[in-house]
Formats: sequence, C-alpha cells, structure tokens
Amino acid sequence: MLRDSFGRVATDLRVSLTDKCNLRCTYCMPPEGLDWLPNAQLLTADEIVRLVTIGVERLGVTEVRYTGGEPLLRRELVDIVSRTTALTPKPQVSLTTNGIGLARLAESLAEAGLDRVNVSLDTLDPETFKRLAHRDRHADVIAGLAAADGAGLRPVKVNAVLMRGVNDHEAASLLRWCLDQGYELRFIEQMPLDAQHGWSREGMVTADEILDLLSASFDLTADDLEDRGSAPAERFLVDGGPARVGVIGSVTRPFCGACDRVRLTADGQVRNCLFATEESDLKTAMRAGASDEELAERWIAAVARKRAGHGIDDPSFLQPSRPMSAIGG
Ligand code: SAM
Repeated sequence: MLRDSFGRVATDLRVSLTDKCNLRCTYCMPPEGLDWLPNAQLLTADEIVRLVTIGVERLGVTEVRYTGGEPLLRRELVDIVSRTTALTPKPQVSLTTNGIGLARLAESLAEAGLDRVNVSLDTLDPETFKRLAHRDRHADVIAGLAAADGAGLRPVKVNAVLMRGVNDHEAASLLRWCLDQGYELRFIEQMPLDAQHGWSREGMVTADEILDLLSASFDLTADDLEDRGSAPAERFLVDGGPARVGVIGSVTRPFCGACDRVRLTADGQVRNCLFATEESDLKTAMRAGASDEELAERWIAAVARKRAGHGIDDPSFLQPSRPMSAIGG
C-alpha cells in the first residue's frame, strides 16, 4: 500500500498524459504557452499502462484519473483508458479535460469503459472565455459537455475557477446553468500553480466569497459533512437538494489531512502532493530495466515522504517549480 508517515493511504492516482494544452487559461499559463516536454521524455502509452498496472495490482490504487495538460490531445487516450479499465481489480477511471474534442471522443471513451468526466468551464460568455483562455473555443466546450452527458459519462462534473473582475460575477449564473443541464458544478479556489507566478492571496476568490456569491441567489445547506471522506469538494445541497454544488477550498480550507491522492507526471515522476517540491523518477528507473517490484518500492518510498500539508500558509512556502499543466491537475 502507498502509506505515508501520517497514516494516510494513497488510493487515487492522477496521471498526466501530456503537459501540452490547447487553451491558455490565465491562472495556468501565459498566452504564448510554455516549453513543452520533448516527446522522448514523455512516457509512452505502454509505459503509462505499465505504471498504472503496478499502482492498481500491487499498490492498492482504486481510482485512476487521466489529466494533463489536456489529455484529449494524447492520441492513444482511448487505448490507454481501455487497457486501464481492463485491469483487475477494475479501478474507477475518469478524465479531467477542457472538453475540446470531447464531442468527437465521448462515445469511444464510454465504450472503452471510462466512468466519468470533469470538464473545466469558467464562464458562460464566449467573449469572457476568449479573454480568460486566449482561444475562441467556448462552443467546443459546451458541445463536449453535451456529448459526455449523451454518452452516459455521468455525473458530468464541471470545474470552474473564479477570477476577480473577470468571471466572479458569473458564480450564480454558472450554477443555474449547470443545474438546468444536470451537471454537477464545483468551484475551485485559484491556487499558486500558474507558470507566471502571478497568484496572490488578495486576488484569489475564496471559498467564503464563493459561498456568499451563491447564497445571494440560492439556499445552500452543507451536505454529507460526515462522509466527505477524502473528497476535495465540500458539497452543499442547492435549494434543499437533491442538486448539489461543490466548493474546493484548497487554499483557505485545506483538506490535506484526508488526502488520498498521488500523481504521476507525463515524464514519469511520482509526486506525493500537488505542491511537492521533490519528485521520484520512475521513468529513468523503468528505462534502465527496473522490475515491477523495484518500481513499486520506489513508489512506496516516494509516498512515505509525503508532508503533513501543502504549507501554503507557511511563511517558508515555495511554489513548485512545475506549473499545474506539467504536474497534472
Ligand atoms: N486541461 C484539463 C482541464 O482543463 O481540465 C486538465 C488539466 S487542468 C490543469 C485541471 C484543472 O485544474 C482545471 O479544472 C483547471 O481549471 C484547474 N486549474 C489550473 N490551474 C489552476 C490554478 N492555478 N488554480 C486552481 N485550479 C487550476
């Protein structure tokens, strides 16, 4: 098992399939993009499936989420998903995506056994989308969401990051729209993970503010506080339920004590925390001929070193050198 020194067990594996993205969301990367990893450094599909198999079959991973960068840009995605869902015991397999291209791929992904998707959508306004993501692709995201729903990849979850003065006035309308479509909306506090290092505590729209913005239009009551478990989102019943909204207060309401996540970057590094400043290199070991057992041992050792918390509030906090797009969100 992937147990750390505080007794937490990692069962939820987030795998970045590529660091590349076709959007340039301002809280993530600059408009000109980044220096992408050279192809030779990316894990191949076989290498990804080998490591995921070790995670599931030897290390107790029960959930696998493919992310990026933008995972739909990875040509072998459907193949990787179908090989993952064929593992024993079968893990829950989901995808975090910006939705561009999902209209084309949703059916094949569902046939490959994908359980669910989280689609990122920060605004209902195509002009705001262009300003925020530096690409004119709002309609593609909306079509991707509808296709995911049509393919049965439910519950379709929508991730939204609010930025002050850009889209924070849309909190209630985003929720109304998601309720109307039958999607489950989760707001994520903006985290210090942008490549430009432009995050500031003052600029962040906090969980408290998000709840205030929503409460002006909806009656929210805390839901499932007792069985929240390791879920990052605090969930609230909207107008008495059954519809819900989630708020992920990673910065102001950290949930590190219940964290069950471990990450694998597109270049084969294990990260025991989104904010870790150290990584453990499985790719080099694998390419040098390490056995599955040796790789599992390295992975166990990497998780054992996990710190108690992300420490954003600590004066000694250092933003990780890799941005969110390279780590895998
Ligand atoms: N490209 C995919 C997508 O858009 O969902 C997957 C990768 S993206 C890094 C995963 C999630 O991280 C998205 O919902 C995105 O909004 C969120 N994200 C990116 N940078 C963030 C930041 N600095 N703070 C909070 N969330 C962030």
